[in-house]
Amino acid sequence: MNTLVNVTGVTKSFGANQVLKGIDLTIENGKVLCIIGPSGSGKSTFLRCLNHLEKIDGGRIEIGGELIGYERHGAHLREMRERDIAKQRKAIGMVFQSFNLFQHRTVLENIIEAPIKVKGESRAAAIKTANELLAQVGLAHRGDAYPSRLSGGQQQRVAIARALAMKPELMLFDEPTSALDPELVSEVLNVMKGLAVSGMTMVVVTHEIGFAREVADELIFMDDGLIVERGVPEDVISSPQHERTKEFLSKVL
Ligand code: ADP
Ligand code: MG
Repeated sequence: MNTLVNVTGVTKSFGANQVLKGIDLTIENGKVLCIIGPSGSGKSTFLRCLNHLEKIDGGRIEIGGELIGYERHGAHLREMRERDIAKQRKAIGMVFQSFNLFQHRTVLENIIEAPIKVKGESRAAAIKTANELLAQVGLAHRGDAYPSRLSGGQQQRVAIARALAMKPELMLFDEPTSALDPELVSEVLNVMKGLAVSGMTMVVVTHEIGFAREVADELIFMDDGLIVERGVPEDVISSPQHERTKEFLSKVL
């Protein structure tokens, strides 16, 4: 097994508020990790640290053997230049609760923008990939539509296609279905399931316990900046070891 993500002792504070209190974690290639936990426990901050949208205060994050956000400088670590950080970020796709599509551009234009501008792909190649990805997320032939004409579930599937267009080695999802009407949740989860089956390595912050149970290789419960419990989903869900996990699950199940 190849380790793709290696997180050691990561800490992060906002002012006096320590939000991550020492996170240790490894993720093997092709595995799906789901993270659950109460609001404010540091889940989003942790995801944002993984692609250096947030600076960490201590510890280290390696993805694909590369230190994220920092480079060795003698015995010290120094923050990378923005250009090098951007290069690392290309390999990490992120999907947010709010889809963040450009509303004044078509679906296709949303998807091909970064491959052309950031990766230097030809327009023809980018369009070909975009159309394949649209088919993959169940939106073939919707490339000419504007996001505002699509449902939330469709927009989120476009956002997933857009992230995949960069051919990431890791996909991060931060509560991707939390903003959706209940009847639209499953179409997005199904796309994510397909992605998991195809072998994508994924970290998914979610309240969808059913999804976690079915798709995750490992489930983590975070509380107050720490990983309180981790294991195969069935164990964590059915026989949580910690009081805080039990209490949380009793509220969401
Ligand atoms: P979760 O995603 O688990 O709900 P977050 O990672 O969003 O938790 O937030 C964890 C804590 O960090 C919260 O107390 C939140 O208010 C704080 N926090 C998050 N982002 C910032 C920020 N940019 N500045 C200050 N505090 C922040
Ligand atoms: Mg969050």
